[in-house]
Order: sequence, then C-alpha cells, then structure tokens
Amino acid sequence: MDTASIIDRYANILETLNAKTAKLQSQLPDIPCKNRCFTCCEQLFPITFLEAFYISRWIHTGMDADEKAERTQYAQVINEKIASALPFDYLNQHRLSEKEALNIHALFNKGLHMIQTACPALNTKRAKGSCTVYESRPHECRVQGFSVNFFPESLLLETSGMQSTEVPYNKEVGGQIAGCFRFENLQHLAPKLMDYNYLYPEKLELDCALIAELTQNYFPQKIMYYTTMCMPFLKNFEDEDWTMFFKKRIPELTEKNTCSVVVDV
Ligand code: SF4
Repeated sequence: MDTASIIDRYANILETLNAKTAKLQSQLPDIPCKNRCFTCCEQLFPITFLEAFYISRWIHTGMDADEKAERTQYAQVINEKIASALPFDYLNQHRLSEKEALNIHALFNKGLHMIQTACPALNTKRAKGSCTVYESRPHECRVQGFSVNFFPESLLLETSGMQSTEVPYNKEVGGQIAGCFRFENLQHLAPKLMDYNYLYPEKLELDCALIAELTQNYFPQKIMYYTTMCMPFLKNFEDEDWTMFFKKRIPELTEKNTCSVVVDV
C-alpha cells in the first residue's frame, strides 16, 4: 500500500468515527460533552505514527502561521518537560510480542498522565473552538465521551511493570466510560456507547503499513512508534528520513513476528 492509499483509508476511519459519535450525540442528549468544553484536553496521552503523521501534515500545510508559531513554542516547552520526566530507555524495547508492545503504550500513557500538562494543541483563547488541530485530531480525542473502555489500563498493567495480566476482552466485566468527572452519575449510558477501541486495530494496521512504506520495508519486525501531540508541531513528518530515524533507535533487525517499540520525545 502506498502512502496516499494509507492516508485515504485512515481518513475513512476518521469519517466513520465522526459519523458514529454524531449519531450518539443526537440520540443521547445526556452526554455532557459540549462545544468549547476542553476538560479532556488538559492532559497528555500517547499518539501513534499515523496519527502524528496526519496531524503534522495538517499543521505544516493548513495552520495559520501565527497560531503554528505559538503552539510550536508551547510544544517545545512541554516536550522538554516530558523528556526529563520519563525513563525512555525503559520505554524503548525490542523483540516484543504485540501485546507487550501495547503494554508499553499503556505505560507511556500512565507516565504522561502524571505530568499534568494540557495538550499543546489546546488554545483556550481561541474564539471558535479550542483544539487547533480539530480536523486532524487523533482517534482518542474523537471517542472521548462516546465510548466505554472494556480493557482499562489498571487491568492491563501489573504494578510491577511490563507484565500484562490476562484479562479477557469481555463486555460482561463492564467497563469505564472514557470521559471526565461529568460522567460520574451517568453510568446508565454505558451500554449505549461505542467500544473505545472501535476501529483501533484497523488504525494500528495502517500505522505499521505506513512505517513499512516510509522505511522501504527495511525492518522485518513490526515497529510501533509512540509519541505525544508535541511532535507533530516540532517535526514535519513528511520531510523526515524515517529509515535513518529508526536505524538510529533500533539496535538490530529481528524476526517478522516480533515488535520494536520506539518512543519519540
Ligand atoms: S488534539 Fe485537540 S481535541 Fe485532542 S486533546 Fe489536543 S486539543 Fe484536545
């Protein structure tokens, strides 16, 4: 698959998510998510390669120059904060199974939540809406408030570190609504909401396909790349030499059925 087809397929996923959440919003007036609410944006979280690539393309081709300069400066400050707070040697791991690679995503997420800084794309001074990358925002931002996470991080991670606990994906065990404190007394909405991971596996497949395409299939193993909303401001993903980038971070080529995780901060 070439880059254009991957991006087209990703855009279709985003459209499907938008249609699904718009329908839920019209059917369920109790959902408290309203325009100009940005509670969920007052935190950091991981994004994947394709999400970062798509947002970076939007920033570097569609964003107003002054807005871009201001957000980029902010992203630089936050990125330094993240880099000094998190142990990246521990997060960058190789020869992993896919599940272990996803666990690192959860670990990274946990670490980022502890930093307590708002997303660099959030501009609370803006007159119309406050997300400056709204049209290209990642999967997670689209499903917040409309989904239930049946596989919460607390179940996925053991406190000791990377070991995962075998928790079957099972709607019977219940789940947490992905949203803020406003959902505290709205648990009755849960059965009507969508799955937090809806279309996420399809997106992950496209993620790996894009990395393979941009590195000319140099690496036999799957590469899982995680970063934050800072990086699309700090880097133009279309200009980067990704083969060189990953060669510097991945010590060896391994078997096809393994994963290398690269965290870019
Ligand atoms: S990308 Fe936009 S919607 Fe998502 S957290 Fe950042 S400001 Fe909020």
